Amino acid sequence: MTLCSNSILERYTPEGQEAVSLFCRRWTCETCKKTRIQQLYAQITGGNPTIFLTLTSKPHQGETPNDAAISLVHAWTTLRRRIKTYMRWRNLPSLMIVAKTEAGWPHLHIYLRCKFIPQKWISEQMNNLIASPICWIEAIKDQGDAARYMTEYGAEQAHQFGTLKRYRASSDYDQRPKHEPPEKREPGWNWQVVRDNIDHWCKSWRDVGWLVTFKTPHHGMAHRPP
Ligand SMILES: [Zn+2]
Repeated sequence: MTLCSNSILERYTPEGQEAVSLFCRRWTCETCKKTRIQQLYAQITGGNPTIFLTLTSKPHQGETPNDAAISLVHAWTTLRRRIKTYMRWRNLPSLMIVAKTEAGWPHLHIYLRCKFIPQKWISEQMNNLIASPICWIEAIKDQGDAARYMTEYGAEQAHQFGTLKRYRASSDYDQRPKHEPPEKREPGWNWQVVRDNIDHWCKSWRDVGWLVTFKTPHHGMAHRPP
């Protein structure tokens, strides 16, 4: 197995030496991209969205796709604030994904947990903000519906324009129960970051006669020889 990471976390335990691979978590990494997409899917459904909103950007002369993406994301920030004022909502749980059209132009897929917002009013706001009135708003009826939207307009299309983030969620969006990891793996909690990869780490312990076992392909234990 090829690993994207050249770092592991390592610690001493009464049973022996333990190591866990650290992944790069980059979207451009084939290994990590799959994980990131799965995590994004889980986060989208975790917010129990009721509304799916698409905002587009009308190409303007001299504008690059990166410029357009920045304007669009800024427009969403303002629109989100305006929606709350207009609808008199205290909160607006939302998850926004920056996607790319076939022509390479940005548009936004936004999952919301709220009541319906008039399409015409959103269109007017977007026209006022960045002269891009085209938008769609649809109700997400149930989990099956949410899954359908995600497949069609989901995580896979998340695209990075310039240095913009591929997606962004408000802190109140995700409703999944917060789960604590079974044990802390941050450096400093007995764990140390070591420049190595798990395959090489195993080999070096085997070479000195230790027995290496795996909890997962990315989590090894080296046991002292009897
Ligand atoms: Zn990676």
